[in-house]
Amino acid sequence: MYYLVRKEGSQKYDRPPKLWLVIPCYNEAAVLPRTAPAFLSKLDSLITRGEISSKSRICFVDDGSTDNTWEIISLLTEGDPRFIGMSLTRNRGHQNALLCGLLEARTHCDAAISIDCDGQDDINAIDEMVDKYKQGYEIVYGVRSSRETDTPFKRKTAESFYRIMSKLGAEVVFNHADYRLMSSDALDDLASFSEINLFLRGLIPLIGRPSSTVEYERRERAAGKSHYPLSKMIHLAVDGVTSLSTKPIHLISIAGITFGCTGILGLVWALLTFLAGNSVPGWTSSVCVICLIGGLQLFSLGIVGEYVGKIYLEVKRRPRYLIERRAGIQNIDEASEPSNVFTGPKTS
Ligand code: UDP
Ligand code: MG
Repeated sequence: MYYLVRKEGSQKYDRPPKLWLVIPCYNEAAVLPRTAPAFLSKLDSLITRGEISSKSRICFVDDGSTDNTWEIISLLTEGDPRFIGMSLTRNRGHQNALLCGLLEARTHCDAAISIDCDGQDDINAIDEMVDKYKQGYEIVYGVRSSRETDTPFKRKTAESFYRIMSKLGAEVVFNHADYRLMSSDALDDLASFSEINLFLRGLIPLIGRPSSTVEYERRERAAGKSHYPLSKMIHLAVDGVTSLSTKPIHLISIAGITFGCTGILGLVWALLTFLAGNSVPGWTSSVCVICLIGGLQLFSLGIVGEYVGKIYLEVKRRPRYLIERRAGIQNIDEASEPSNVFTGPKTS
């Protein structure tokens, strides 16, 4: 099955797209031996059906793991030329690891799909994403149809996260994490965003370009445990809001004006009370007002501080990640036929 790929200016030609799966991994030695063969067999089935090019690849980005994730990735690349590996010099966080893989993919592929390595994102949605890409969509968001496998706490906090984000002015696709397809042109656009404070799921809608969604069931982790406890989720939410919106500072200004006006009314009332000779000082009310205003001031300072801190990091222009090692890149542009003999890495 062939279709038109728009690349290299206006030149059009017929061929199946070169697809890269970009998979960030952090301390995933328990899960990789189970999920890597599943990714490979999905890629194989798409290649065999002629849906994607035989030069399609699976690219793992080891985000500075401290277990033997990198050893497993190296073994995978030795066992099959369709696997590629990169390892960052230290743990830089999911968003930076993902960006590293996507920016590597963009010069080699027609489209890249980012997916977690723990098997929670249903790989069968890849077929529909590729179909949508062929229909002309340049960004296809994987959207969770249900969160039944998440704990009620995780589900509630995650759903509130999307609601608060959009209320605070960060445009995000509801229930979409980082499982998505992007065309190489959309990846080129992404490369032009140079910010250090990365929140990809808020940045990518800013690219524009024709986009669509594909629904999928969120599954249980195949093994290992989540690296996103509540504290990291709050961190990600703060990063998301502060990197995409100045609405919190605007809200502080409104609160400041409201309290300022109330303060003037209070002052007039206090003066009138004094002039009327009824100025018996109320200790409780004074303490309450001081605590309230003091708390609000500290909170406001904290928010302003968040922005100042972000500006500090942005102006330093430090690299968002550094690559230490690569594996399997010699095979990047070789056509490789599905072998169907891959049985997973030897981990002993
Ligand atoms: N991950 C990463 N760096 C980190 C934390 C996580 O590359 O510092 C990867 C992790 O290996 C997984 C994906 O990001 O492939 C999502 O992480 P996780 O499954 O722990 O998050 P959850 O699905 O529980 O939100
Ligand atoms: Mg997960």
